[in-house]
Amino acid sequence: MSKQKSPETDETSGESTSTGDTEPESALANARRQLERAAAYVDVEDGVIERLKHPTKLQQVSVPLRRDDGSLEVFTGYRAQHDDVRGPYKGGIRYHPDVSAEECIGLSMWMTWKCAVMDLPFGGGKGGITVDPKTLSDEERERLTRRLAEELRDVVGPKQDVPAPDMGTGPKEMAWFMDAYSMQEGETMPGVVTGKPPVIGGSYGREEAPGRSVAIITREAIDYYGWDIEDTTVAVQGFGSVGANAARLLDEWGASIVAVSDVDGAIYDPDGLDTQDVEGHDERPGMVSGYDAPETLSNAELLELDVDVVIPAAVGNVITADNVDDIDADLLVEGANGPTTFAADTILEERGVPVVPDILANAGGVTVSYFEWLQDINRRQWSLDRVHEELEEEMLKAWAAVQREVDEQDLSWRDAAYVVALSRIGKAKETRGLWP
Ligand code: NAD
Repeated sequence: MSKQKSPETDETSGESTSTGDTEPESALANARRQLERAAAYVDVEDGVIERLKHPTKLQQVSVPLRRDDGSLEVFTGYRAQHDDVRGPYKGGIRYHPDVSAEECIGLSMWMTWKCAVMDLPFGGGKGGITVDPKTLSDEERERLTRRLAEELRDVVGPKQDVPAPDMGTGPKEMAWFMDAYSMQEGETMPGVVTGKPPVIGGSYGREEAPGRSVAIITREAIDYYGWDIEDTTVAVQGFGSVGANAARLLDEWGASIVAVSDVDGAIYDPDGLDTQDVEGHDERPGMVSGYDAPETLSNAELLELDVDVVIPAAVGNVITADNVDDIDADLLVEGANGPTTFAADTILEERGVPVVPDILANAGGVTVSYFEWLQDINRRQWSLDRVHEELEEEMLKAWAAVQREVDEQDLSWRDAAYVVALSRIGKAKETRGLWP
């Protein structure tokens, strides 16, 4: 069934991965390694590859915060802008204790590839504040976000760099960021960030878009391998935003979702679960593992089920050298960012188990962010139906481009996705040339 050849390096993912499954590899090292690997398959000048190993700019800012108790604390914020040859930098702002300059640079590179594989007119950016958001009150998060918007005001903007939610941030933070930016600019500028609530220029369908794209790509992969979706069994790890939306759509399209999980464990029904009846993790914490199903499993056991498709959609680094030999599925579709480590990926390819990468599968999020940006610029909101239709169209185009590389160059799905992205970026760079 497999049309893949063995990889030499790992994917670039949203979260750090490990090289030998013991030493975690930084997002930056990972992103550079993936760039070098893809460069071998594309006809791009060496100088262009060299330029792409470095971010265009890295902004580091101090973000002072008046705490609710009257004390003052200073946090560090970053915005890495990797490349904008194809359009404004695009990427999330995360609030997490591990945020660092290096992590932001690595993740911004990954956003460059992700936007390019989807053929969106954006480059890659990523930023954040080194802070544990759970230690902040709502008011403190608002003050911190407004001050970050002010500190980054010179480097962001609808035509320059468009942030979005990421770990630890959401629609609320985007609303505060947009408001702070607009107040200083003297006009309402919704296009400065995406992922906003629809009432202030956010797009319908943004929240469910990554899960929807995972479902679309899984459906296409099932079709590519000549299976019938009605006879396909699927296990989904993580029944959150990405996992629940993907599982429910695949269920609607006829697949049998036999297992889903939350952080506390998995539920299993060999005859297929009613995914509409299972409440998502977000709807009620603990309700997935607490659901009345014929069998319960651990998260590890879910990954090892003898099913047609496994969709890891919870966290990174769950399929590693330690458990890859027990993976029994015929196809993996990455819903989460970086769920498969380099070592595991190598073994899966040797075994002929295809892995459809995160960079393609969950790219529905940034694609609907692009739709949001278009709606903001045009001051015209799209209906949910239109968002769904256009997302479907964009995903199918990206799938077709990647599939062409898989077939013509005999590449893995991961390599093919990176080759599509790098070719587009490389051609744009060569055509524009180096200024001055
Ligand atoms: P979420 O918080 O909505 O859901 C995560 C789910 O995974 C929950 O059911 C949670 O209980 C479960 N979970 C958490 N830790 C786990 C663990 N250690 N083992 C098993 N299950 C665990 O998160 P999400 O937004 O669905 O994101 C999931 C993944 O998809 C992350 O890797 C994220 O980076 C990636 N992603 C998210 C988006 C997005 O816009 N939501 C876009 C692209 C990629």
